[in-house]
Amino acid sequence: MAIISCPSCSEQVSDKAKQCPHCDLSLTEQSLEQTESSKRVERIKSIQSIQFQTMLALFLSIAGFIFYYLDDPIGDPQMQQWVAMGAIILGLMWYLINRIRIAYLTKKYKNER
Ligand SMILES: [Zn+2]
Repeated sequence: MAIISCPSCSEQVSDKAKQCPHCDLSLTEQSLEQTESSKRVERIKSIQSIQFQTMLALFLSIAGFIFYYLDDPIGDPQMQQWVAMGAIILGLMWYLINRIRIAYLTKKYKNER
């Protein structure tokens, strides 16, 4: 008999148990496989959504740069500069936050494996 950790509550459970005594999760082989693969899908999805946001953030910064150096200002030039700077800073911050989130998640997933 071996001791495994429950995929749901991380408590220690005998591998012979059909159900986790701590959280009542079903521990048959099939349900364990399902839990694992749905976890994997969730991980891929959350990383993909952050990657998409990273792209949006970059795009926002680039749009800000283009707007800032536009030769022919639309409307009030000073207002345009403020908006452009805001977009650049916001985009870069958003980008950084997303990079940190991806690094954090990747590290967390590696540790869990
Ligand atoms: Zn459990």
